Amino acid sequence: MESISQLTDLIARGETSARATVEAALDRAETLNESLNAFLAIDREGAVKRAEEIDAGQSAGETSLHGVPIAIKDNICVRGMQTSCGSRILGPYQPPYNATAIDRLLQAGAIVIGKTNCDEFAMGSSNENSAFGPVRNPWDTSRVPGGSSGGSAAAVAAGIVPVALGSDTGGSVRQPASLCGVIGLKPTYGRVSRYGLVAFGSSLDQIGVFARNATDAALVLQTIAGRDPHDATTADVPVPNYADALKSDINGMRIGVSRALLGEGLDAEVRAAIEKAIDAYKDLGAEIVDVDLPHAKYAIAVYYIIATAEASSNLARYDGVRYGFRAEEAPALRDMYRKTRDEGFGPEVKRRIMLGTYVLSAGYYDAYYLKAQKVRMLLRQDFANAFARCDAVVTPTSPTPAFKFGEKVDDPLAMYLNDVYTVTANLAGVPGISVPCGLSSEGLPIGMQLLGPYWSEANLLRLTHAYQTAHPFEGTPKIHA
Ligand code: GLN
Repeated sequence: MESISQLTDLIARGETSARATVEAALDRAETLNESLNAFLAIDREGAVKRAEEIDAGQSAGETSLHGVPIAIKDNICVRGMQTSCGSRILGPYQPPYNATAIDRLLQAGAIVIGKTNCDEFAMGSSNENSAFGPVRNPWDTSRVPGGSSGGSAAAVAAGIVPVALGSDTGGSVRQPASLCGVIGLKPTYGRVSRYGLVAFGSSLDQIGVFARNATDAALVLQTIAGRDPHDATTADVPVPNYADALKSDINGMRIGVSRALLGEGLDAEVRAAIEKAIDAYKDLGAEIVDVDLPHAKYAIAVYYIIATAEASSNLARYDGVRYGFRAEEAPALRDMYRKTRDEGFGPEVKRRIMLGTYVLSAGYYDAYYLKAQKVRMLLRQDFANAFARCDAVVTPTSPTPAFKFGEKVDDPLAMYLNDVYTVTANLAGVPGISVPCGLSSEGLPIGMQLLGPYWSEANLLRLTHAYQTAHPFEGTPKIHA
Protein backbone atom coordinates (compact mmCIF):
# COMPACT_ATOMS: atom_id res chain seq x y z
CA MET A 1 0.00 0.00 0.00
CA GLU A 2 1.13 3.54 -0.77
CA SER A 3 2.46 5.94 1.83
CA ILE A 4 0.58 9.16 2.56
CA SER A 5 2.80 11.25 0.33
CA GLN A 6 2.48 8.75 -2.53
CA LEU A 7 -1.30 8.82 -2.16
CA THR A 8 -1.56 12.62 -2.01
CA ASP A 9 0.83 12.91 -4.99
CA LEU A 10 -1.27 10.51 -7.07
CA ILE A 11 -4.40 12.47 -6.22
CA ALA A 12 -2.73 15.84 -6.86
CA ARG A 13 -1.49 14.66 -10.27
CA GLY A 14 -4.98 13.46 -11.13
CA GLU A 15 -3.84 9.84 -11.53
CA THR A 16 -6.44 8.82 -9.03
CA SER A 17 -9.15 10.61 -7.05
CA ALA A 18 -9.95 10.86 -3.38
CA ARG A 19 -13.12 8.95 -4.18
CA ALA A 20 -11.32 6.02 -5.80
CA THR A 21 -8.78 5.96 -2.97
CA VAL A 22 -11.39 5.92 -0.27
CA GLU A 23 -13.60 3.39 -2.04
CA ALA A 24 -10.64 1.03 -2.30
CA ALA A 25 -10.00 1.42 1.44
CA LEU A 26 -13.68 0.83 2.22
CA ASP A 27 -13.66 -2.32 0.07
CA ARG A 28 -10.62 -3.63 1.91
CA ALA A 29 -12.15 -2.79 5.28
CA GLU A 30 -15.40 -4.58 4.46
CA THR A 31 -13.77 -7.65 2.95
CA LEU A 32 -11.14 -8.13 5.64
CA ASN A 33 -13.50 -7.43 8.51
CA GLU A 34 -14.90 -10.94 8.25
CA SER A 35 -11.55 -12.38 9.25
CA LEU A 36 -10.22 -9.53 11.43
CA ASN A 37 -13.22 -7.89 13.15
CA ALA A 38 -11.11 -4.73 13.18
CA PHE A 39 -13.98 -2.32 12.51
CA LEU A 40 -17.08 -1.78 14.62
CA ALA A 41 -18.50 0.68 12.10
CA ILE A 42 -17.67 1.44 8.49
CA ASP A 43 -19.10 4.66 7.10
CA ARG A 44 -19.21 4.09 3.34
CA GLU A 45 -21.81 6.73 2.65
CA GLY A 46 -20.19 9.48 4.71
CA ALA A 47 -16.68 8.70 3.51
CA VAL A 48 -17.62 8.65 -0.18
CA LYS A 49 -19.58 11.89 0.18
CA ARG A 50 -16.62 13.60 1.77
CA ALA A 51 -14.26 12.23 -0.88
CA GLU A 52 -16.50 13.72 -3.57
CA GLU A 53 -16.39 17.09 -1.82
CA ILE A 54 -12.62 16.90 -1.65
CA ASP A 55 -12.37 15.97 -5.33
CA ALA A 56 -14.65 18.90 -6.13
CA GLY A 57 -12.28 21.19 -4.24
CA GLN A 58 -14.91 22.10 -1.68
CA SER A 59 -12.85 21.26 1.36
CA ALA A 60 -11.10 24.22 2.87
CA GLY A 61 -7.84 24.25 4.78
CA GLU A 62 -4.47 22.67 4.16
CA THR A 63 -4.09 19.59 2.09
CA SER A 64 -1.30 17.55 3.66
CA LEU A 65 -3.67 14.60 4.09
CA HIS A 66 -5.77 15.35 1.00
CA GLY A 67 -7.96 12.30 0.36
CA VAL A 68 -6.12 10.04 2.81
CA PRO A 69 -8.35 7.34 4.34
CA ILE A 70 -7.94 6.92 8.08
CA ALA A 71 -9.40 4.63 10.77
CA ILE A 72 -10.27 5.87 14.26
CA LYS A 73 -10.46 3.93 17.50
CA ASP A 74 -14.01 3.76 18.75
CA ASN A 75 -13.28 5.81 21.87
CA ILE A 76 -12.51 8.98 19.91
CA CYS A 77 -15.50 11.11 18.96
CA VAL A 78 -16.34 11.59 15.30
CA ARG A 79 -19.54 13.54 14.68
CA GLY A 80 -22.29 11.46 13.15
CA MET A 81 -20.63 8.12 13.83
CA GLN A 82 -21.01 5.78 16.77
CA THR A 83 -18.66 5.91 19.74
CA SER A 84 -19.07 2.67 21.66
CA CYS A 85 -15.67 2.35 23.38
CA GLY A 86 -16.09 -1.38 22.77
CA SER A 87 -18.82 -1.35 25.44
CA ARG A 88 -22.53 -2.05 25.57
CA ILE A 89 -23.16 0.74 28.00
CA LEU A 90 -22.95 3.50 25.39
CA GLY A 91 -25.62 1.81 23.28
CA PRO A 92 -26.17 3.69 20.04
CA TYR A 93 -24.47 6.86 21.29
CA GLN A 94 -23.37 9.25 18.57
CA PRO A 95 -21.36 12.25 19.75
CA PRO A 96 -22.62 15.60 18.47
CA TYR A 97 -19.05 16.89 18.09
CA ASN A 98 -15.59 15.95 16.81
CA ALA A 99 -12.55 15.35 18.96
CA THR A 100 -10.00 18.11 18.33
CA ALA A 101 -7.65 15.57 16.73
CA ILE A 102 -10.44 14.62 14.32
CA ASP A 103 -11.23 18.24 13.45
CA ARG A 104 -7.57 18.78 12.64
CA LEU A 105 -7.33 15.65 10.49
CA LEU A 106 -10.44 16.65 8.56
CA GLN A 107 -9.06 20.16 8.09
CA ALA A 108 -5.98 18.60 6.52
CA GLY A 109 -8.13 16.62 4.09
CA ALA A 110 -8.24 13.17 5.74
CA ILE A 111 -11.30 10.95 5.37
CA VAL A 112 -12.51 8.82 8.29
CA ILE A 113 -13.62 5.45 6.91
CA GLY A 114 -14.69 3.85 10.17
CA LYS A 115 -14.38 3.25 13.89
CA THR A 116 -12.12 0.48 15.11
CA ASN A 117 -12.70 -2.24 17.65
CA CYS A 118 -10.97 -2.07 21.03
CA ASP A 119 -11.01 -3.47 24.53
CA GLU A 120 -13.92 -2.07 26.51
CA PHE A 121 -13.08 1.49 27.57
CA ALA A 122 -9.50 0.78 26.42
CA MET A 123 -8.93 -1.62 29.31
CA GLY A 124 -6.96 -4.59 28.13
CA SER A 125 -3.94 -5.86 26.27
CA SER A 126 -5.51 -8.43 23.96
CA ASN A 127 -8.83 -7.09 22.64
CA GLU A 128 -10.57 -9.96 24.38
CA ASN A 129 -12.41 -7.39 26.52
CA SER A 130 -14.36 -5.91 23.61
CA ALA A 131 -18.10 -6.40 24.00
CA PHE A 132 -18.23 -7.03 20.25
CA GLY A 133 -15.75 -9.90 19.98
CA PRO A 134 -11.98 -9.59 19.68
CA VAL A 135 -9.95 -8.29 16.77
CA ARG A 136 -7.79 -11.03 15.28
CA ASN A 137 -4.10 -10.57 14.53
CA PRO A 138 -3.54 -10.35 10.75
CA TRP A 139 -0.28 -12.33 11.11
CA ASP A 140 -2.05 -15.27 12.75
CA THR A 141 -5.77 -15.17 13.38
CA SER A 142 -5.50 -17.59 16.30
CA ARG A 143 -3.58 -14.87 18.15
CA VAL A 144 -4.46 -11.58 19.77
CA PRO A 145 -3.61 -8.28 18.05
CA GLY A 146 -2.70 -6.71 21.40
CA GLY A 147 -4.75 -4.05 23.05
CA SER A 148 -6.49 -2.01 23.62
CA SER A 149 -6.29 -0.33 20.18
CA GLY A 150 -6.15 -3.70 18.38
CA GLY A 151 -8.54 -2.70 15.58
CA SER A 152 -6.47 0.33 14.55
CA ALA A 153 -3.25 -1.71 14.68
CA ALA A 154 -4.74 -4.53 12.60
CA ALA A 155 -6.25 -2.09 10.07
CA VAL A 156 -2.83 -0.55 9.39
CA ALA A 157 -0.99 -3.89 9.44
CA ALA A 158 -3.44 -5.46 6.98
CA GLY A 159 -3.03 -2.56 4.55
CA ILE A 160 -6.58 -1.27 4.90
CA VAL A 161 -5.46 2.27 5.73
CA PRO A 162 -2.01 3.88 5.82
CA VAL A 163 -2.58 5.41 9.26
CA ALA A 164 -4.98 5.16 12.19
CA LEU A 165 -5.52 6.76 15.58
CA GLY A 166 -5.62 4.95 18.88
CA SER A 167 -5.33 5.93 22.52
CA ASP A 168 -2.54 5.00 24.90
CA THR A 169 -3.08 5.02 28.67
CA GLY A 170 -0.58 2.30 29.52
CA GLY A 171 0.58 1.01 26.16
CA SER A 172 -2.57 0.69 24.08
CA VAL A 173 -0.96 2.14 20.97
CA ARG A 174 2.60 0.80 21.34
CA GLN A 175 1.76 -2.77 22.42
CA PRO A 176 -0.72 -3.62 19.61
CA ALA A 177 1.64 -1.89 17.15
CA SER A 178 4.36 -4.23 18.34
CA LEU A 179 2.19 -7.35 18.09
CA CYS A 180 0.92 -6.40 14.62
CA GLY A 181 4.24 -5.25 13.13
CA VAL A 182 3.56 -1.53 12.65
CA ILE A 183 4.78 1.73 14.19
CA GLY A 184 2.88 3.01 17.23
CA LEU A 185 3.61 6.45 18.65
CA LYS A 186 2.44 7.74 22.03
CA PRO A 187 3.15 11.45 22.25
CA THR A 188 4.19 13.36 25.37
CA TYR A 189 1.29 13.94 27.78
CA GLY A 190 -0.11 17.31 26.71
CA ARG A 191 1.16 17.14 23.11
CA VAL A 192 -2.18 16.09 21.59
CA SER A 193 -5.57 17.29 22.81
CA ARG A 194 -7.69 14.78 24.69
CA TYR A 195 -10.85 16.71 23.90
CA GLY A 196 -13.25 14.16 22.46
CA LEU A 197 -11.24 11.16 23.64
CA VAL A 198 -13.41 9.22 26.08
CA ALA A 199 -11.57 9.38 29.39
CA PHE A 200 -10.06 6.27 31.00
CA GLY A 201 -7.16 7.54 33.15
CA SER A 202 -7.07 11.28 32.61
CA SER A 203 -3.51 11.82 33.86
CA LEU A 204 -2.24 9.02 31.58
CA ASP A 205 -4.34 9.13 28.39
CA GLN A 206 -2.91 10.34 25.08
CA ILE A 207 -4.13 9.90 21.52
CA GLY A 208 -1.47 8.13 19.46
CA VAL A 209 -0.69 7.25 15.86
CA PHE A 210 -0.33 3.96 13.98
CA ALA A 211 1.62 4.01 10.72
CA ARG A 212 3.91 1.87 8.64
CA ASN A 213 6.74 4.37 8.34
CA ALA A 214 8.11 7.31 10.31
CA THR A 215 7.25 9.84 7.60
CA ASP A 216 3.55 9.02 7.76
CA ALA A 217 3.58 9.03 11.55
CA ALA A 218 5.32 12.43 11.48
CA LEU A 219 2.71 13.85 9.13
CA VAL A 220 -0.21 12.75 11.28
CA LEU A 221 1.41 13.93 14.52
CA GLN A 222 2.14 17.28 12.87
CA THR A 223 -1.54 17.62 12.09
CA ILE A 224 -2.97 16.72 15.49
CA ALA A 225 -0.34 18.12 17.89
CA GLY A 226 -0.50 21.42 19.72
CA ARG A 227 -2.33 23.56 22.21
CA ASP A 228 -6.11 23.29 22.30
CA PRO A 229 -8.26 25.66 24.36
CA HIS A 230 -10.70 22.74 24.89
CA ASP A 231 -8.09 20.76 26.83
CA ALA A 232 -6.31 22.63 29.60
CA THR A 233 -3.67 19.90 29.85
CA THR A 234 -2.39 20.57 26.32
CA ALA A 235 0.89 22.43 26.56
CA ASP A 236 1.80 25.68 24.91
CA VAL A 237 5.02 24.20 23.59
CA PRO A 238 5.89 24.91 19.95
CA VAL A 239 5.29 21.99 17.59
CA PRO A 240 8.48 21.39 15.60
CA ASN A 241 8.54 20.33 11.95
CA TYR A 242 8.65 16.57 12.36
CA ALA A 243 9.27 15.77 8.69
CA ASP A 244 12.36 18.02 8.73
CA ALA A 245 13.69 16.14 11.74
CA LEU A 246 13.78 12.94 9.71
CA LYS A 247 16.31 14.40 7.31
CA SER A 248 19.32 14.42 9.62
CA ASP A 249 21.30 11.32 10.54
CA ILE A 250 21.64 9.97 14.06
CA ASN A 251 25.39 10.14 14.27
CA GLY A 252 26.43 10.88 17.86
CA MET A 253 22.98 10.41 19.34
CA ARG A 254 23.08 8.55 22.63
CA ILE A 255 20.83 5.55 23.24
CA GLY A 256 20.36 4.32 26.78
CA VAL A 257 19.99 0.65 27.62
CA SER A 258 18.80 -0.59 31.00
CA ARG A 259 20.21 -4.10 31.35
CA ALA A 260 17.79 -4.81 34.19
CA LEU A 261 14.89 -4.48 31.73
CA LEU A 262 16.37 -7.13 29.46
CA GLY A 263 16.45 -9.81 32.13
CA GLU A 264 13.92 -12.11 33.73
CA GLY A 265 10.51 -12.68 32.14
CA LEU A 266 11.59 -11.57 28.69
CA ASP A 267 11.11 -13.98 25.79
CA ALA A 268 14.52 -15.06 24.44
CA GLU A 269 13.67 -14.21 20.84
CA VAL A 270 12.46 -10.75 21.84
CA ARG A 271 15.67 -10.19 23.79
CA ALA A 272 17.77 -11.28 20.78
CA ALA A 273 15.85 -8.93 18.48
CA ILE A 274 16.38 -5.98 20.83
CA GLU A 275 20.10 -6.75 21.16
CA LYS A 276 20.31 -6.80 17.37
CA ALA A 277 18.53 -3.46 17.13
CA ILE A 278 20.96 -1.99 19.66
CA ASP A 279 23.85 -3.19 17.47
CA ALA A 280 22.14 -1.70 14.44
CA TYR A 281 22.04 1.68 16.19
CA LYS A 282 25.71 1.36 17.01
CA ASP A 283 26.42 0.76 13.33
CA LEU A 284 24.42 3.85 12.46
CA GLY A 285 26.71 5.97 14.61
CA ALA A 286 24.78 6.11 17.86
CA GLU A 287 26.56 5.82 21.17
CA ILE A 288 25.14 3.18 23.53
CA VAL A 289 25.15 4.10 27.23
CA ASP A 290 24.00 2.17 30.29
CA VAL A 291 21.13 3.69 32.23
CA ASP A 292 19.26 2.64 35.31
CA LEU A 293 15.52 2.98 35.97
CA PRO A 294 15.50 1.63 39.53
CA HIS A 295 11.78 2.24 40.11
CA ALA A 296 10.59 0.66 36.87
CA LYS A 297 10.00 -2.59 38.77
CA TYR A 298 7.13 -0.89 40.63
CA ALA A 299 5.52 0.47 37.46
CA ILE A 300 2.87 -2.24 37.04
CA ALA A 301 1.72 -1.93 40.65
CA VAL A 302 1.65 1.87 40.48
CA TYR A 303 -0.13 1.91 37.13
CA TYR A 304 -2.86 -0.51 38.19
CA ILE A 305 -3.56 1.66 41.25
CA ILE A 306 -3.57 5.05 39.51
CA ALA A 307 -5.27 3.92 36.29
CA THR A 308 -8.04 2.08 38.13
CA ALA A 309 -8.56 4.97 40.57
CA GLU A 310 -8.99 7.42 37.70
CA ALA A 311 -11.15 4.98 35.76
CA SER A 312 -13.50 4.43 38.67
CA SER A 313 -14.07 8.16 38.81
CA ASN A 314 -14.34 8.69 35.04
CA LEU A 315 -16.74 5.80 34.54
CA ALA A 316 -19.13 7.00 37.25
CA ARG A 317 -20.88 9.07 34.57
CA TYR A 318 -22.33 5.99 32.83
CA ASP A 319 -25.44 5.60 34.92
CA GLY A 320 -28.15 5.23 32.30
CA VAL A 321 -29.34 8.81 32.68
CA ARG A 322 -27.47 10.73 30.02
CA TYR A 323 -25.86 8.29 27.63
CA GLY A 324 -26.71 5.25 25.62
CA PHE A 325 -27.93 2.10 27.30
CA ARG A 326 -30.48 2.06 30.13
CA ALA A 327 -31.66 -1.14 31.81
CA GLU A 328 -35.37 -1.83 31.63
CA GLU A 329 -37.66 -2.83 34.45
CA ALA A 330 -35.97 -0.85 37.16
CA PRO A 331 -38.67 0.43 39.50
CA ALA A 332 -36.56 3.00 41.34
CA LEU A 333 -33.64 5.24 40.40
CA ARG A 334 -31.08 3.27 42.39
CA ASP A 335 -32.18 0.03 40.74
CA MET A 336 -31.86 1.69 37.38
CA TYR A 337 -28.27 2.77 38.10
CA ARG A 338 -27.35 -0.65 39.43
CA LYS A 339 -28.96 -2.66 36.65
CA THR A 340 -27.68 -0.39 33.90
CA ARG A 341 -24.11 -0.68 35.14
CA ASP A 342 -24.43 -4.39 35.83
CA GLU A 343 -25.74 -5.15 32.34
CA GLY A 344 -23.79 -2.46 30.50
CA PHE A 345 -20.22 -3.08 31.70
CA GLY A 346 -18.15 -6.21 31.06
CA PRO A 347 -16.15 -8.10 33.71
CA GLU A 348 -12.79 -6.34 33.26
CA VAL A 349 -14.33 -2.88 33.52
CA LYS A 350 -16.16 -3.96 36.67
CA ARG A 351 -12.92 -5.32 38.10
CA ARG A 352 -11.19 -1.99 37.44
CA ILE A 353 -14.00 0.01 39.00
CA MET A 354 -13.87 -2.16 42.10
CA LEU A 355 -10.08 -1.92 42.35
CA GLY A 356 -10.22 1.82 41.76
CA THR A 357 -12.88 2.56 44.35
CA TYR A 358 -11.02 0.35 46.80
CA VAL A 359 -7.68 2.16 46.47
CA LEU A 360 -9.47 5.50 46.84
CA SER A 361 -11.60 4.52 49.81
CA ALA A 362 -11.10 6.06 53.24
CA GLY A 363 -8.54 4.05 55.16
CA TYR A 364 -6.84 2.68 52.04
CA TYR A 365 -6.21 5.93 50.20
CA ASP A 366 -2.89 6.63 51.95
CA ALA A 367 -1.66 3.07 51.70
CA TYR A 368 -2.40 2.67 47.98
CA TYR A 369 -3.30 5.75 46.00
CA LEU A 370 -1.09 8.26 47.81
CA LYS A 371 1.82 5.87 47.93
CA ALA A 372 1.45 5.10 44.23
CA GLN A 373 1.58 8.83 43.45
CA LYS A 374 4.83 9.10 45.39
CA VAL A 375 6.39 6.20 43.51
CA ARG A 376 5.17 7.78 40.28
CA MET A 377 7.29 10.84 41.14
CA LEU A 378 10.32 8.61 41.74
CA LEU A 379 9.80 7.01 38.37
CA ARG A 380 9.66 10.44 36.72
CA GLN A 381 12.94 11.22 38.45
CA ASP A 382 14.43 7.97 37.11
CA PHE A 383 13.62 9.10 33.59
CA ALA A 384 15.00 12.59 34.21
CA ASN A 385 18.26 11.02 35.41
CA ALA A 386 18.38 8.65 32.45
CA PHE A 387 17.73 11.41 29.92
CA ALA A 388 20.55 13.47 31.37
CA ARG A 389 22.78 10.76 29.90
CA CYS A 390 21.01 9.85 26.66
CA ASP A 391 18.56 11.00 23.98
CA ALA A 392 16.37 7.90 24.14
CA VAL A 393 16.08 4.66 26.07
CA VAL A 394 15.48 1.44 24.14
CA THR A 395 13.46 -1.44 25.61
CA PRO A 396 11.24 -4.20 24.26
CA THR A 397 7.64 -3.02 23.74
CA SER A 398 6.09 -6.25 24.92
CA PRO A 399 7.75 -9.18 26.73
CA THR A 400 6.46 -11.67 24.13
CA PRO A 401 5.18 -11.67 20.56
CA ALA A 402 1.41 -12.06 20.03
CA PHE A 403 -0.08 -14.73 22.31
CA LYS A 404 -3.03 -17.02 21.63
CA PHE A 405 -6.62 -16.19 22.41
CA GLY A 406 -7.57 -17.50 25.84
CA GLU A 407 -3.96 -17.82 26.97
CA LYS A 408 -4.07 -15.05 29.59
CA VAL A 409 -7.67 -13.97 29.72
CA ASP A 410 -8.49 -15.89 32.89
CA ASP A 411 -5.47 -14.59 34.75
CA PRO A 412 -5.69 -10.78 35.10
CA LEU A 413 -2.23 -10.56 36.65
CA ALA A 414 -0.58 -12.38 33.74
CA MET A 415 -2.41 -10.03 31.39
CA TYR A 416 -1.35 -6.94 33.36
CA LEU A 417 2.29 -8.08 33.28
CA ASN A 418 2.18 -7.72 29.52
CA ASP A 419 2.26 -3.95 30.08
CA VAL A 420 5.51 -3.98 32.04
CA TYR A 421 7.50 -2.03 29.44
CA THR A 422 4.83 0.41 28.32
CA VAL A 423 3.13 1.79 31.46
CA THR A 424 6.28 3.64 32.59
CA ALA A 425 5.98 6.21 29.78
CA ASN A 426 2.41 7.10 30.74
CA LEU A 427 3.27 7.35 34.43
CA ALA A 428 6.18 9.68 33.62
CA GLY A 429 4.31 11.47 30.81
CA VAL A 430 7.17 10.95 28.34
CA PRO A 431 6.72 10.00 24.67
CA GLY A 432 7.36 6.52 23.32
CA ILE A 433 7.31 4.74 20.00
CA SER A 434 7.19 1.07 19.08
CA VAL A 435 9.10 0.09 15.95
CA PRO A 436 9.01 -3.35 14.30
CA CYS A 437 12.48 -4.90 14.61
CA GLY A 438 12.14 -8.51 13.55
CA LEU A 439 10.07 -11.66 13.32
CA SER A 440 10.04 -14.58 15.75
CA SER A 441 10.72 -18.13 14.57
CA GLU A 442 6.95 -18.52 14.33
CA GLY A 443 6.80 -15.55 12.00
CA LEU A 444 5.34 -13.10 14.51
CA PRO A 445 6.39 -9.43 14.68
CA ILE A 446 8.63 -8.16 17.49
CA GLY A 447 8.70 -4.49 18.44
CA MET A 448 11.32 -2.34 20.13
CA GLN A 449 10.31 0.66 22.16
CA LEU A 450 12.14 3.98 22.18
CA LEU A 451 11.35 6.36 25.04
CA GLY A 452 12.50 9.98 25.05
CA PRO A 453 12.36 13.13 27.19
CA TYR A 454 9.30 15.39 27.12
CA TRP A 455 8.56 16.84 23.65
CA SER A 456 11.25 14.69 21.96
CA GLU A 457 8.91 13.13 19.38
CA ALA A 458 11.06 14.58 16.59
CA ASN A 459 14.08 12.65 17.88
CA LEU A 460 12.09 9.45 18.34
CA LEU A 461 10.81 9.69 14.78
CA ARG A 462 14.32 10.44 13.53
CA LEU A 463 15.67 7.35 15.31
CA THR A 464 12.80 5.31 13.86
CA HIS A 465 13.40 6.60 10.35
CA ALA A 466 17.14 5.93 10.51
CA TYR A 467 16.54 2.39 11.73
CA GLN A 468 13.83 1.62 9.17
CA THR A 469 15.90 3.01 6.31
CA ALA A 470 18.82 0.76 7.22
CA HIS A 471 16.66 -2.23 8.19
CA PRO A 472 13.35 -2.23 6.34
CA PHE A 473 10.84 -4.47 8.08
CA GLU A 474 10.48 -7.63 6.01
CA GLY A 475 7.36 -9.71 5.87
CA THR A 476 3.67 -9.27 5.22
CA PRO A 477 0.85 -10.54 7.41
CA LYS A 478 -1.19 -13.51 6.20
CA ILE A 479 -4.32 -11.38 6.14
CA HIS A 480 -3.44 -8.45 3.92
CA ALA A 481 -5.20 -6.48 1.22
N1 GLN B 1 -3.19 -2.68 28.76
C1 GLN B 1 -3.27 -1.55 29.64
C2 GLN B 1 -4.54 -1.63 30.45
O1 GLN B 1 -5.20 -2.59 30.35
C3 GLN B 1 -3.20 -0.27 28.87
C4 GLN B 1 -4.46 0.15 28.28
C5 GLN B 1 -4.37 1.43 27.54
O2 GLN B 1 -3.30 1.94 27.26
N2 GLN B 1 -5.53 2.00 27.25
O3 GLN B 1 -4.85 -0.77 31.21
